[in-house]
Amino acid sequence: MKQYLSDRINAMEASATLAMAAKTRELKAEGKDIIGLSLGEPDFNIPDFIKESAKEAIDQNYSKYTPVEGYLELREAVCQKFLRDNQLHYTPSQIVISTGAKQCLANAALAMINPGDEVIFPAPYWVSYKEIAKLAGGVPIEVYTTIENDFKMTPAQLEAAITPKTKMVWFNSPCNPSGSVYNRQELEALAVVLRKYPHIFILSDEIYEYINFTTELYVSFAAIQGMYERTITVNGLSKAFAMTGWRIGYLAAPEWIAKACNKVQGQMTSGTNAIAQRAAITALKASKSEIQYMIYEFKKRRDLVLQLLREIEGLKLNIPEGAFYVFPDVSAFFGKTVRGRTLHNASDVSLYLLEEAQVATVTGEAFGDGNCIRISYAASEKELREAIRRIKESLQS
Ligand code: PMP
Ligand code: GLU
Repeated sequence: MKQYLSDRINAMEASATLAMAAKTRELKAEGKDIIGLSLGEPDFNIPDFIKESAKEAIDQNYSKYTPVEGYLELREAVCQKFLRDNQLHYTPSQIVISTGAKQCLANAALAMINPGDEVIFPAPYWVSYKEIAKLAGGVPIEVYTTIENDFKMTPAQLEAAITPKTKMVWFNSPCNPSGSVYNRQELEALAVVLRKYPHIFILSDEIYEYINFTTELYVSFAAIQGMYERTITVNGLSKAFAMTGWRIGYLAAPEWIAKACNKVQGQMTSGTNAIAQRAAITALKASKSEIQYMIYEFKKRRDLVLQLLREIEGLKLNIPEGAFYVFPDVSAFFGKTVRGRTLHNASDVSLYLLEEAQVATVTGEAFGDGNCIRISYAASEKELREAIRRIKESLQS
């Protein structure tokens, strides 16, 4: 029956993160003692003050279709957030609220990419980027970073990947899956290259902005000189406010791009959920100190996970400075035969860990790096300790 499906869907990979999460749920339902470290989702509850405002919104009958671009009050709150945190001036007409950052990415891709346009992705990249860009007809160009350079793309690498067909660069800091955070100097160095090519637009996915353990102030790419007019910034409430299921993302861009994204959204899904938007206003207006406990906890877990993983001989690690993932290089295990099975690649290692250690991770192949696996540490300390004990035991057997 596959031949009846569209070519675009046949050419699309399913989301590896969501597939692993589904597999974990299935195995757990069968009674298996699986520790799920595959899904990038905070394990915290939504803070009470945000929940309260959602309850109020229900009582106040926020039940009708919302404006396609999102409530004005929420777009104003997003503008205030950009001014407060990123020293960036936006007006509400430059903001589009969507059903998660994922929809912002899809809107931007459909609004900007023509068939055959090249889109540069520093690898490792988040699983959905390539497939979203491909759906719009984009041609993915992967730039392979190295663990030695903290998985960061250098200006020379960026320049070497640019051709007359390059339309966009999709960029993510803090990065899922590597946890790398680009500092101001590194962003400025990339901007020096981009300034030479005014036909290139930048999509900067800043969804992990708040989950950042560096002591330096976070720098938004649009704040780098000359980049504001060419940057689409994507952010959302899933990670920092643990609101994954409430599906609120937002995008800021030059007005003509925001309008185009709005047009896409108007035909595809309309304005996003009314209750979640009201709650998002409260969340964005709150002081960052309200959610600091989660960031503190993520950092503590990052330190613990690094310390425990370093005890496993053969793993190579960078120090993730943000998000909530570690991305160990497991290539030292390729070619090894354990209990009669040979591990050829990262997918084999991830599958082996699922079956032998009963720990769910995601293969790095889905992120454009076939040497690594991704471990999400958005889990309790107890689960993390037990998971890494099992990983160690099964890899050292
Ligand atoms: N970008 C990155 C880098 C992510 O990890 C995620 C997580 N799902 C998203 C975008 C999408 O987030 P959401 O749709 O939940 O807002
Ligand atoms: N961003 C998360 C992850 O990378 C959520 C899952 C998804 O949307 O793919 O695991």
